[in-house]
Amino acid sequence: MSGLLRRAVSLLVLCSAGCGVAQAQESETSLAVAEHEAPVLRPWGATIPHARRPQINLDAVWWSAPRREPLGRLADRWGVPKTALLQLNPTLDPSARVEAGQRVLVYRHDPSTRSQSVGAPNRGRLEGGAAFPPGDAWTMRSWRPRSFATRQVVTELALSLTAWHERHPDAHPVKLGELSKRSGGRVRPHKSHRTGRDVDIGYVMREPNDGHRFVAVTDDNMDAEATWGLIRQLLATSSVESIFVADSVQAQLVPFAAQTMSDEEQAAVFSVVASGFRAKKAAKLKAVRGHDDHMHVRFSCGPADGECTAARKRKRRRKRRRRR
Ligand SMILES: [Zn+2]
Repeated sequence: MSGLLRRAVSLLVLCSAGCGVAQAQESETSLAVAEHEAPVLRPWGATIPHARRPQINLDAVWWSAPRREPLGRLADRWGVPKTALLQLNPTLDPSARVEAGQRVLVYRHDPSTRSQSVGAPNRGRLEGGAAFPPGDAWTMRSWRPRSFATRQVVTELALSLTAWHERHPDAHPVKLGELSKRSGGRVRPHKSHRTGRDVDIGYVMREPNDGHRFVAVTDDNMDAEATWGLIRQLLATSSVESIFVADSVQAQLVPFAAQTMSDEEQAAVFSVVASGFRAKKAAKLKAVRGHDDHMHVRFSCGPADGECTAARKRKRRRKRRRRR
């Protein structure tokens, strides 16, 4: 059993007698395949009342169609081939339309398929991409062909977001942006996001953000305490390589970090605190341009990512001297 799975198992409580009601409700609205799904994984603390406990199923992603539309259109929403969708949902009629609100299985974990990040985040691809599930701690767009990552990243991120929300129950859910395509590859306009290790996450805002876009952080619209809580939770996984966060945003987070961290610890986390080029480069939070409305989280290569490498720098083309 890998370290990740051991950690997941230690955090999760598999469905027992107390989950019966929730499972019965699920099976009423789900299609026929629901019966043989793996148990719903529930990362929560024992002290949280059952009714308030979040449910995350990392093994199967069920989804409600947002509107009445052809099956092919719905397949496009997830970047999944129509044939694969029909295999997952054998009761669907390929020529019929999917009704608004109809529950469709869009992803099921196959233990025989390896899920791994191949190559560099800005050059590589994703094998065995896992779909990111719905959850109470985050919101996602209804157009989701770029919501895949390695199974390890999906697990770490979903558990981190859920654990964060338990610690900050009054914080608004974060807006989850783009991850990777099902098989990775180029994701315009991003340079990276190609190998299932990158994810964009909106900062925690004081007001709920119902729009499609991230909201730029100002001096007073970000819930800095909850945002620092989320970053702290992500860093605690030891699976995060770096997080791109604008200088101005980091500056708002530092006072909350200073409550529990020494100056040295802060310098290892915040590039705005670190002094000197090397120290800034080594800090977990890096001030990369364009991250004043969202953070970009890059996860490390995991034990299952056999051919995973660091980001590659673009080679500068040497100017050819013209011979006269
Ligand atoms: Zn990004």
